[in-house]
Amino acid sequence: MECELMQRAWIISIGTELTLGQSLDTNGAWLARELAALGVRAERHVTVPDELQPITAVALAAAASGEIVLITGGLGPTDDDLTRQALADAADTHLELDSAALEQIRAYFASRGREMPERNHSQAMSPVGGRLLANRCGTAPGVFVEICGTPCFAMPGVPFEMKAMFAEQVVPAIRAARQQKPAAAVAVAEDADSGEAVLLSRIVRTYGLPEAEIGERLRDLMVRGRNPEVGTTADMGEIGVRINAAAASGASATDMLDAEEREIRNRLGKAVYGIDSDTLAGAVGQRLIERGRTLCVAESCTGGLLGMLLTETPGSSQYFLGGEIAYSNEVKQRRLAVKSGTVAVHGAVSQAVASEMAAGARAAFGATYALSITGIAGPGGGTPQKPVGLVYIGLATPEGVRVREIRMGDQSPRGVIRQWAARTALNLLRMELG
Ligand code: ATP
Repeated sequence: MECELMQRAWIISIGTELTLGQSLDTNGAWLARELAALGVRAERHVTVPDELQPITAVALAAAASGEIVLITGGLGPTDDDLTRQALADAADTHLELDSAALEQIRAYFASRGREMPERNHSQAMSPVGGRLLANRCGTAPGVFVEICGTPCFAMPGVPFEMKAMFAEQVVPAIRAARQQKPAAAVAVAEDADSGEAVLLSRIVRTYGLPEAEIGERLRDLMVRGRNPEVGTTADMGEIGVRINAAAASGASATDMLDAEEREIRNRLGKAVYGIDSDTLAGAVGQRLIERGRTLCVAESCTGGLLGMLLTETPGSSQYFLGGEIAYSNEVKQRRLAVKSGTVAVHGAVSQAVASEMAAGARAAFGATYALSITGIAGPGGGTPQKPVGLVYIGLATPEGVRVREIRMGDQSPRGVIRQWAARTALNLLRMELG
């Protein structure tokens, strides 16, 4: 997405646990999305271990080339929390005690009936010429300092502390700085809405069409350099179509997103089940509520995953009655009335067993619909006739039972096969409900 006039930023995530891959840098992703909505384009994401020199070097590089520098992590009270010192070094200054901040930290402990450990004293140290940002949710104040004239904001690593500090202190500071400065970014802000250039995003969620087919149908919308920008992401059968719209105001960007979403829905039809945080299970639930119908499940190789996905939606008790995790053949027979002859002749992973599981569950639970899943999730247990990744999904309705066979490939990991099977089951019912 190119929008020449957008402000730019560097995001620096500090922590050896991040550079070693032991934790994921979710802060960086969250900040980049929030910045985009503010009209600031994240230009670089840098991850640095808890070491003084590398942090100082990256802060200097960011200050030299970025317009805004956002840092998370390394503000704690322990010896490996070095962000304050690194910022002081990069700003060519030293740390001094901020006694008001020290009192706030003491008060934070006192409000929990504890005395402040001496170690936390270090968190009240502020670079001379900068200032500390109060932390409503924890002990680590943030730091604001200018390095070579570039504003740098350091926030705690703990995500909920960082999010509160960003919203309450960093966003207002970015907005205020922008109003003072007749910068290029402000020049696009002729639309009176918010007076700020923005990059807004939306994901159109689909299931059932292969990514290549979607790419074909949206080919002209996906050309590089177009605004809005359109691209796809694939996740175990679910294809998301991401739209990024850059505009001079939030209202214009939203209009662009709305128009693009309409066009994408026209082209992809019933494959679209929602947008943004909508889920397949939620889309199924919505349809069941609208039609006053109920659902139960019978799961073998997914071991309850389908029930979990369904119950992630608040209010699912309105339509989801329950399920049977029928992992063994004996339970399939005893609880779901699968015939022993069916298992003996066709095997537990078969169209016939999936059919009887769905019919048995529907009868046992008294639901309008029943979904069943039986398959080979691997990595062992496959044969040439029935390879790993073979799954049968049954759907029992008032009109009868039908079964879908899917083959996900014997190299697919167990987790992928289970997720894919559960989502395919949900989609089967979604299509049935129209
Ligand atoms: P505090 O004093 O509140 O702990 P801090 O600034 O010292 O703040 P860190 O010690 O760097 O924070 O990190 C604390 C925890 O926050 C980490 O253990 C990790 O769980 C989480 N965290 C840190 N950085 C990130 C990040 N970039 N993305 C997601 N989580 C993070």
